[in-house]
Amino acid sequence: MPSLFPPAPIVMLPVSGSDDMFPVRRVYCVGRNYAAHAIEMGGDPDREAPFFFQKNPDNLTLTDGIFPYPSQSSDVHHEVELVVALHRGGRDIAVDTALDHVFGYAVGIDFTRRDRQAEAKAAGRPWEVAKAFEQSGPLSPLVPASRIGHPTEGRIWLSVNDTPRQDGNVNQMSWKVPEIIAELSRLFTLAPGDVIFTGTPSGVGPVERGDRVTCGVEGVAALAVSVR
Ligand code: MN
Repeated sequence: MPSLFPPAPIVMLPVSGSDDMFPVRRVYCVGRNYAAHAIEMGGDPDREAPFFFQKNPDNLTLTDGIFPYPSQSSDVHHEVELVVALHRGGRDIAVDTALDHVFGYAVGIDFTRRDRQAEAKAAGRPWEVAKAFEQSGPLSPLVPASRIGHPTEGRIWLSVNDTPRQDGNVNQMSWKVPEIIAELSRLFTLAPGDVIFTGTPSGVGPVERGDRVTCGVEGVAALAVSVR
């Protein structure tokens, strides 16, 4: 049967050191997965478990490394995150076998319209306007776990114009990667191509047009983004 119009392209992520591309299916994100960030956002990590929200696959790629400052916000924040890419799926995945589902890792930025998010929180409304806007989730190339293993510690950092803003360690995550996959698979059917942002350490803050944002996860990858 004919398509009414050309279908939207599948978003393909580059793989470091390879000509292979990783086709994206869904994008999940974990909120408040580092205690110090939960506290800076006004939460209590002893009482509130991390939780999930989503971005769209086509939010993950930038053109020429440029993050276009979004409309309808004057307070856009950076959140540097370790990102997990799955090549196997399933439901009710056990913590013990969860890492078998991981293809590789990247560093990404969960750009957030913080002003719109604060309004949504106050009104009890969903977060898409704050989180799932155009080009809101740039990523480094994916690095296969077959090359680097599964990082359980390592510095996670972000600077704006060479001024350090975020500096944590992935060993500070409340839910570790296997626990995130297991928990998510109880709520959704996971599949190859799913991508998970695992939460940000403390130090989130605003970016402005003209800023140069650099970030990385030690032992995984680095990423540079220009805000325009
Ligand atoms: Mn985040």
